Amino acid sequence: MTGSPVEESAAGGSAKPIYDRVVLKLSGEAFADPATGYNIDPSIVASIANEVALAKHLGIELAVVVGGGNIFRGGSASLRGIDRATGDYMGMLATVINALALQDALEQIGIPTRVQTAIAMQQVAEPYIWKKAIRHLEKGRVVVFAAGTGDPYFTTDTTAALRAAEIGAGVIFKATRVDGIYTDDPEKNSDATRIDELSYIEVLNRGLRVMDSTAISLCMENKLPIVVFDLMVEGNIKRAVLGEHIGTTVK
Ligand code: UDP
Repeated sequence: MTGSPVEESAAGGSAKPIYDRVVLKLSGEAFADPATGYNIDPSIVASIANEVALAKHLGIELAVVVGGGNIFRGGSASLRGIDRATGDYMGMLATVINALALQDALEQIGIPTRVQTAIAMQQVAEPYIWKKAIRHLEKGRVVVFAAGTGDPYFTTDTTAALRAAEIGAGVIFKATRVDGIYTDDPEKNSDATRIDELSYIEVLNRGLRVMDSTAISLCMENKLPIVVFDLMVEGNIKRAVLGEHIGTTVK
């Protein structure tokens, strides 16, 4: 199975998925108590799991890359005195905590899930082995990729691009707290409008903060479309899988 679109969607979406293998990127913030942006709120993780299940039940293969920003970010910690590489390793470990929370929530609703970590910790999860990840996907399991790339100075957005390329996914869904990419900050500029579609180069040249430039470049080189949409709207992951026009597509 390749991850390429299997069927063009009709206007407004069709009943069949337009992708067969998807990488969903969830930032750590998505797991957090909305009031603080920190820590893990189990009820929120449960609702994310339900959203993932809705999409999974369409029959797609789904891998998830989780961030760790709700717990720890190496970059900001290094500004406050922690050695950058140490901080980044701490950030990568934070993603494992989120991955376990998501695995737990998914398995509680009957979705078989495997966590694979880029830093070996075999008592907790499997190490990342790409062939094995693909095997899990083929068997219908959700695979959660944790510990980023395993290397400091990278992000989990770059991890999403890397893993998507490795496993031959057809698309990256970047599910966030905004409903797409805007011409300007919509909270500061009421004239800001949402952009439906953008090229990778436009994102890079305009410095739009969709994903970091390493991630965008990797997607561009591998012709991997990115769909940015609001995770907080119920049913949005499913809509994106069905090819409904939501958020912003970068391709
Ligand atoms: N990180 C890293 N290498 C990677 C991925 C992540 O060093 O390949 C570290 C980095 O310190 C980052 C933290 O893990 O700040 C959490 O990841 P990220 O900021 O991407 O999470 P998100 O913003 O998506 O929650």
